[in-house]
Amino acid sequence: MSEFDDLLADNAKYAAGFTGSDLTGRAARGLAVVTCMDSRIDPLGLLGLVPGDAKILRNAGARVTDDVLRTLVLAVFLLGVERVLVMPHTDCGMSKVSDNDVHALAQQQGVDTRSLEFHTVPDQQAALRHDLTRIRTTPFFPHPLPVGGAIYDVHTGRLQPVEL
Ligand SMILES: [Zn+2]
Repeated sequence: MSEFDDLLADNAKYAAGFTGSDLTGRAARGLAVVTCMDSRIDPLGLLGLVPGDAKILRNAGARVTDDVLRTLVLAVFLLGVERVLVMPHTDCGMSKVSDNDVHALAQQQGVDTRSLEFHTVPDQQAALRHDLTRIRTTPFFPHPLPVGGAIYDVHTGRLQPVEL
C-alpha cells in the first residue's frame, strides 16, 4: 500500500490497451513546446498532437531557463526538433507573485528559499518576448530555428498568438 497505488492501478489498465510500442523518441512533427506546469493545460490535446509528435517541456511559468535551453539543444541535435512553441497561459500563478513573495511565504514556515531563482513573471508578454529572444539568439543551434510564442487561455481553450 502506498500513496501511489491509484496510479499503479490505472497504469495497469493503460498498459493493457497500450498501442504505442512502435513510436521512436524522435518528435514526429518536429516540434518542441515549452509550457507551464499548470494542471489545466493539455499540451497535446490543445494543439492536435498525439504521443510521439512533440517534445513537451514544462516548468513553472513556461520560462526558458538554462535547463530548458539545454533540453532544446539536445532535442534539436538528437530528437528531430525543428521548431519551438513557447506557450505560457492566462491566470498563471507565476504572474501573480514575485520571487520575494515566495521567499516571504517560505520564510513564514521557517524555510529559506533565497538561493532559488523562481523566474516569476511580473509582465507576461514581456517575459514571453524575452524568452523567445533567448532561444533565437542562442549560439547552440546549427541553423535558425522557427520559434513562436502564444498564450493559452485556460478559460476558452484558445491560443492567443504573440509572435507566430
Ligand atoms: Zn502557469
